[in-house]
Amino acid sequence: MIQVENYIGGKFVTLSDDFDDISPLDFSIIAKVPRTKNVDGAVEAAKSAQPDWGALSIEQRCDWLDKIANELESQIEEIARLESMDTGKPHHVALNVDANRSVNNFRFFADFGRKMESQTFQMPDATNYVVRKPIGVVGLISPWNLPLYLLSWKIAPALLMGNAIIAKPSEITPLTAHFLAKVCSKIGLPEGVLNIVHGYGPEVGQAIVEHPEIRAISFTGGTSTGKIVAATAAPMFKKLSLELGGKNASLVLDDADLDLAVPGVLRASFLNSGQICLCGSRVLVHSAIYYEFMDRYLEELKSFEIGPVISDEHRSKVLSYIELAKQEGGTILSGGSVPDKQGAWIEPTVISGLSHESRTATEEIFGPVVTVHKFESDEEAIKMANCTQYGLAGSVWSKGRGREVAEQIESGMVWVNTWLHRDLRVPFGGVKDSGVGREGGMWSLGFFSEAVNICVMED
Ligand code: NAD
Repeated sequence: MIQVENYIGGKFVTLSDDFDDISPLDFSIIAKVPRTKNVDGAVEAAKSAQPDWGALSIEQRCDWLDKIANELESQIEEIARLESMDTGKPHHVALNVDANRSVNNFRFFADFGRKMESQTFQMPDATNYVVRKPIGVVGLISPWNLPLYLLSWKIAPALLMGNAIIAKPSEITPLTAHFLAKVCSKIGLPEGVLNIVHGYGPEVGQAIVEHPEIRAISFTGGTSTGKIVAATAAPMFKKLSLELGGKNASLVLDDADLDLAVPGVLRASFLNSGQICLCGSRVLVHSAIYYEFMDRYLEELKSFEIGPVISDEHRSKVLSYIELAKQEGGTILSGGSVPDKQGAWIEPTVISGLSHESRTATEEIFGPVVTVHKFESDEEAIKMANCTQYGLAGSVWSKGRGREVAEQIESGMVWVNTWLHRDLRVPFGGVKDSGVGREGGMWSLGFFSEAVNICVMED
């Protein structure tokens, strides 16, 4: 049994009030997690650490990010083991997606920080110098689907820009954030620069968003939670970055290379049991290749390995959508049932015959369930892709018209003939109800700093 602790001012703290962390693999209790309700102590620790941290040079803070990356990398198998235990995902996904990319987040921002160029704007008689100052104390709140990866994606740029942090991982997956705290303690990261508190969203998450001395909130999670976060933070004029839900489409055009499209769309459908905000849960296929595509897709699905979904409660939500699909007239082409074993398992499920405007095809399910739809023209496919309230990501599979079609999709990110191919320098974020703001590369550094202009008149 692991005892998860809060990490405040460089000290590990337990609380008498705690709750269980349950493995989705078999519903066993794997950890005890502190039920924090108040972040005053963490904010005090962050406030006293921030001035010295912010006074370091960018190069010095880059060196700290590299030290974190090196230590994480030396224990990469342990990160994968913890992530796999906490989320149920297969070891190779936990290693290659979660653990590796978490290390890369720190390393990437260290390299990026070293290459950051100063910005000046010359006038005929004066020079403008843009200075990027730390915000102060920032709050980072993350979900359960890619626990350390999404948290480190925020921690690395926030540290780089000289802020002190109050971070809260999902209460469902606290293990790797706790591990990161141990790593930071081991390498001697200055006390109070990174504080990690655990607990339920409406309690400690809300306390972070409400705290007047936390001046920026970077939140990744569901759209309905994002609304609460925005409603709380906006009247306090906090900087706010919201990375929210999605219902992304994969468009397979009539000229698609099916050798690429079939495995690519399948991976977009079911990687991490469909629990990635970027997953393509709507598969739109041109009628001319529909049957060939579907035959191959369903065949390859038979050997696609997935883990359980995150919890029994989440499985109930996913199953309720499969029931809804049946009521809406859908045909289950594959899956649809619960395997006979302990844990939050659910078969990867493919549903056809639904209107692209049905609830099943437009609401976020966030599980191993996709709906497939036939279209006759690029225009129709684009219209179908754009018919939801969301606008996070998407993919287009075509030998010749991919980019042209991609530009007409109302989403923050669209891949052509690939999926989840990530360059960390590019803007990451959603349009419509999928979020506000962008993170990634320069966008992250912009969010985690205050750009101040100094205009110097020349003699
Ligand atoms: P969630 O919204 O339930 O929780 C996210 C985080 O917010 C958790 O740490 C939770 O404890 C906290 N929280 C809950 N209520 C809060 C409140 N009132 N104030 C502050 N914090 C609060 O989301 P989830 O179920 O953990 O994650 C799944 C969702 O996340 C899906 O909708 C998915 O699309 C989305 N997501 C988006 C992205 C993206 O980059 N856009 C990435 C991953 C996941």
